[in-house]
Amino acid sequence: MRNKILLVEDSKVIQQMYRSKLVLEQFTVITADNGMEAIKKLSEETFDIILLDLMMPIMDGYKVLQVVKTDPKLSKIPVLVFSAKGQPEEVEKAISLGAIGYVIKATTKPNEVVEQIKKILSQKTVVHEVAQYILDIKQDVYDAKKLASDFKLNNFICQKCQSPMLLKLIPDFSHEEAWFSGRFFCQKCQS
Ligand SMILES: [Zn+2]
Repeated sequence: MRNKILLVEDSKVIQQMYRSKLVLEQFTVITADNGMEAIKKLSEETFDIILLDLMMPIMDGYKVLQVVKTDPKLSKIPVLVFSAKGQPEEVEKAISLGAIGYVIKATTKPNEVVEQIKKILSQKTVVHEVAQYILDIKQDVYDAKKLASDFKLNNFICQKCQSPMLLKLIPDFSHEEAWFSGRFFCQKCQS
């Protein structure tokens, strides 16, 4: 049976490019120009996967992710998001909202996106509980000192409240091996 994909993208050029590629790869492709349209399509038919742009007019991709991941009828559908440049804030927000992975629009070729989609669909039985892992980093071991100085992390002490900064790791399931994006944050200030 053909896999059915919902392609949510406001740029007609990009939409058309991915549609042709996915149709060639034997996918049934339904398109939506914005988040509103995506939600409507999701209420009308069932999909195996969603390829979702984040920056869109009317309703953006984050809102769509929120709706999908909080609706028990939709929450099992894997959502792969398009990030414009792979900015950590964008990626972190999408992953914490339940996206299974992300592709960087500017640098990822449609072929590679299709490969990712296939990989995700072949692993569909594996349920990824998207979690965040909070770690404490010991100072002065290996490259910790250099890391703190290169990124002006103030020896991993929060500048506002002087609490220790913790390392938050967010899993990225689009890679085969254990792969994460991470950032330092203060648990007290939550920043
Ligand atoms: Zn703080």
